[in-house]
Amino acid sequence: MSWNQRLESALQARREQHLWRQRHTIDSPQGVLVRVEGQSLINFCSNDYLGLASQGGDDLARAAQTWQLGSGASHLVCGHSRAHHELEDALAAHTGYPKALLFSTGYMANLGVISALAQRGDRILQDKLNHASLLDGAQLSRATSTRYRHQDYAHLEQLLEDSAAQGSSNETLVISDSIFSMDGDLADASQLAQLCSASQSSHRQNSNHQKPALLMIDDAHGFGVLGDHGGGVREAFNLTPEQLPVYVGTLGKALGGCGAFVAGSEALIDYLVQFARSYIYTTALPPALADAMLGNLERLKNNALRQQLRQRIAQFRFGANELGLPLMASNSPIQPLLIGSSDTAMVISEELRQRGFWVSAIRPPTVPQGQARLRVTLSAAHSAEQVEALLQALAVIKQAHGL
Ligand SMILES: *Cc1c(COP(=O)(O)O)cnc(C)c1O
Repeated sequence: MSWNQRLESALQARREQHLWRQRHTIDSPQGVLVRVEGQSLINFCSNDYLGLASQGGDDLARAAQTWQLGSGASHLVCGHSRAHHELEDALAAHTGYPKALLFSTGYMANLGVISALAQRGDRILQDKLNHASLLDGAQLSRATSTRYRHQDYAHLEQLLEDSAAQGSSNETLVISDSIFSMDGDLADASQLAQLCSASQSSHRQNSNHQKPALLMIDDAHGFGVLGDHGGGVREAFNLTPEQLPVYVGTLGKALGGCGAFVAGSEALIDYLVQFARSYIYTTALPPALADAMLGNLERLKNNALRQQLRQRIAQFRFGANELGLPLMASNSPIQPLLIGSSDTAMVISEELRQRGFWVSAIRPPTVPQGQARLRVTLSAAHSAEQVEALLQALAVIKQAHGL
């Protein structure tokens, strides 16, 4: 089969399975109200949970006067500016870690951290529903990777004991999302921390002398959302940096910009600077962007935004529950409605769009077969009226389709 035939047949299969993915071009700044292909839509699909993507533009313009556009090189060559450095310090302080390291994206942070830490012979245990970048990072690392059933910590414990029983001298890395990106539910970070600590096996009989495992949490959807100060999953669960030694946050979701960071001990960050290939072999973010992110970090600290967000989440869940819509077990801004068939999910998404609401249909392979869903995301920037209007549209569509 020629390359061209391979491409054509893959594309054809995508179409036939109703899994064709398509980009929609927006002509306005990102926000709750967007202009999309000539239509004005209320946006319920961004990750801009605090409404900060549409702020910070003035900061960026000012920073560009100072820094101009490009960083010119990777951080280790000559691309590391004072702006990057200050943002790292501010992110470390806000998340409560000794040090932080900027990456260009969350995808690259996960690839870089996992492949630098885990080596051939090591073991990676991760949640079945972890983000694609975590699965890809594990593959890149050459460690053996096992996925435990979603949020099934008895299964994780079993796997940890199995590796202890083998008397392996190699290391174990445990990785989980905090808020799962397609389900919206929250990992139990306390339980993860406890399972990873060595002390856990000492209050059992027949202890296998389990070695501590290293815990890494990807807090892409939790940073800025969880904790009274928006410090993320560690603040929400009141864990020490030692209990959650590898923390990944992104700048592209609640912080409303672009980029990512890893926070941890001095040794961890020093190690990543030396060995994380997706940190070393890539151009640093534009320094003006790093500078402008400092402004959004200040905005993110305002707890009124999180209170507003929580009110919208409660409003949506209460209303959807009254309507008997297929809500999932989530208290986060990610509120999926489980539809099942990819086809139906697409039809409903299209009907919502005709009524002026943008809600994306998420289909396999992003979610398991038969679990297509409408991924409603809420923002502090939504008004109560906008959430109410979405609920009314869903009520009408439910009548027509029997959701
Ligand atoms: C979005 C996301 C990422 C990737 O972050 P980017 O900065 O968009 O590359 C990583 N992990 C999770 C859980 C995410 O939701």
